[in-house]
Amino acid sequence: MQRDIFDAEHDAFRDLVRTFLEKEVVPHHAQWEKAGQVDRDIWLSAGRAGLLGTDVPEEFGGDTPDFRYNAVALEEITAAGTSGLGFPLHNDVVAPYLLRLANDEQKQRWLPGFCSGEIITAIGMTEPGTGSDLQGIATHAEKDGDDWILNGAKTFITNGILADLAPTCRSGWSTAACSCTAATAT
Ligand SMILES: Cc1cc2nc3c(=O)[nH]c(=O)nc-3n(C[C@H](O)[C@H](O)[C@H](O)COP(=O)(O)OP(=O)(O)OC[C@H]3O[C@@H](n4cnc5c(N)ncnc54)[C@H](O)[C@@H]3O)c2cc1C
Repeated sequence: MQRDIFDAEHDAFRDLVRTFLEKEVVPHHAQWEKAGQVDRDIWLSAGRAGLLGTDVPEEFGGDTPDFRYNAVALEEITAAGTSGLGFPLHNDVVAPYLLRLANDEQKQRWLPGFCSGEIITAIGMTEPGTGSDLQGIATHAEKDGDDWILNGAKTFITNGILADLAPTCRSGWSTAACSCTAATAT
């Protein structure tokens, strides 16, 4: 199929992703599948190669935001059969939550590590009793002095085993007032 949405820079990025996968991922993927998780270092390598945060503005550690780079990365990861890499979830699903719902302090704190691969993210929406209908989310966060107490259970969380940061719930029980409530691993 002839496509005209990509330009020469996207083609160059595609070559970069393809080479990265061939050299740094494919040789290890079967072992990672056996282990049930990818090596954490591959996230740092991907960050150095510019594969993470491709839709994040430069001021937060990314580059010129352009979702087409996300699409290229997803296509190449799928074509290589390297499904263990949760980069698309990180780039395509979590980044918009952080960019739209996090406050400036949270963006400064999280996004540079998000782009470098030092902060691996997940999205924890599905619960034992909640799937497609996210209005049914029961997990909630309550302020307790300087802390937040997070109550609830999650299931089927891509990157969950390695994640440092995961949007998990809405706070205040109001989608209109939804802020970015995220659990960070300690
Ligand atoms: C490999 C994998 C990775 C995943 N990663 C994540 C993740 O990173 N984070 C996360 O939060 N979740 C994740 N999930 C969970 C996934 O998002 C849920 O499985 C999905 O949202 C569907 O929810 P459910 O399985 O509870 O099915 P349900 O929501 O119970 O749906 C069951 C069936 O009913 C249909 N249905 C649902 N509601 C209606 C309706 N109102 N009207 C008509 N039909 C309806 C659905 O289409 C479906 O066919 C992952 C799942 C898999 C398999």
